[in-house]
Amino acid sequence: MTEQFTGNFTQQDPIPDEAIAAALEVLQSGRLHRYNLVGDAPGEVSLLEQEFAAQMGAKYCLAVASGGYALGCALRALGVGPGDKVLTNAFTLAPVPGAIASVGAEPVFVGVTEGLVIDLEDLAAKVGQADVLMLSHMRGHICDMDRLMEICDGTGVRVIEDCAHTMGAQWRGTASGRHGVMACYSTQTYKHVNSGEGGLILSDEDDLMARAILLSGSYMLYERHLARPPAAAFEKAKYVTPNVSGRMDHLRAAILRPQLRELERQVARWNALYRVVEAGLSGTPGLTVVARPEGESYVGSSIQFLLLDWSEAAVEEVLRRCGARGVELKWFGGAEPVAFTSRYDSWRYVQAEPMPASDRVLAGIVDMRLPLTFSEADCAVIARIIRAEVGAVYQGG
Ligand SMILES: *Cc1c(COP(=O)(O)O)cnc(C)c1O
Repeated sequence: MTEQFTGNFTQQDPIPDEAIAAALEVLQSGRLHRYNLVGDAPGEVSLLEQEFAAQMGAKYCLAVASGGYALGCALRALGVGPGDKVLTNAFTLAPVPGAIASVGAEPVFVGVTEGLVIDLEDLAAKVGQADVLMLSHMRGHICDMDRLMEICDGTGVRVIEDCAHTMGAQWRGTASGRHGVMACYSTQTYKHVNSGEGGLILSDEDDLMARAILLSGSYMLYERHLARPPAAAFEKAKYVTPNVSGRMDHLRAAILRPQLRELERQVARWNALYRVVEAGLSGTPGLTVVARPEGESYVGSSIQFLLLDWSEAAVEEVLRRCGARGVELKWFGGAEPVAFTSRYDSWRYVQAEPMPASDRVLAGIVDMRLPLTFSEADCAVIARIIRAEVGAVYQGG
């Protein structure tokens, strides 16, 4: 009998009971806006910021409305504006070039390697073209951060890290997000903690964080923030920083705080699932498992493999066959953007130079989510199905 997988690739874990209880308290209070506080009570949003900063070893944190908002806010805080160029990954998701475009700036795409990280040689060649790199740790793959910072520091390029897929990950023991001047996280449903929508920004720099807090729509209430820089930084910025409202509310903060306390445990669960799929796929003829560098500790909330130099028709056949057996794969190489997948050349508002080596990699990337509602046994079934169907098409081709 042919094995069939019946799990649901978009089904997340439920929100934990403790988080639901905290949310109910906020709802009963009627005080959802972050500055709607009783007396000196800090409020859920400020507490979330304080706790996340401490967890990540950062001085300051700001909670905002979404990960994409966090990216745009970080760019504005750094003074990026119309006509500026911003280096970023060719392999990323639409909100990244979108954030750059939202401030009137222009993305300059940097290539991707077969390890699915930013191509550091290409970065070294292009680093002179911009003052800022928005580095996307796309699908949780972390490049050699020591080398990357050497390249950027050497030319004074400031790095904003997009950690939408690396909350809880590390490079050589340093938390992902702690290399650049600002780091942005998403707390959207498909990321590592779930508040529906939401974002977090970290920074150690007084001026950058003061501007970010003012930008987010703090009016003259920024002193209510717990994880904020000293008053002097706000004095410099408060009359000249526009309000681009994008605050987080207490309801979202309340459900995030208990989830962040469980992050490490969740990361271990994701990685156990990842390893089952990885082991099940390794050695499949025609399929390249993406090697993970030694210095990286990742969060296996999704897995990618490469069907390098396959024809479009053959990749599509693998997706069709796996889909028919209940395994939902996403292909980043498709000519038309589908759902959450996309290629740099589908963002036609950007003048992108052709990058043949990256195109070859992008054309082969197959992507799969690993929600925590899956068991290790589920992952073994999934891997067997992919292995069999890749094998069938590969031999047929
Ligand atoms: C999800 C995501 C974002 C943006 O987060 P939202 O909270 O959805 O706005 C940014 N970068 C990457 C790589 C993402 O996957």
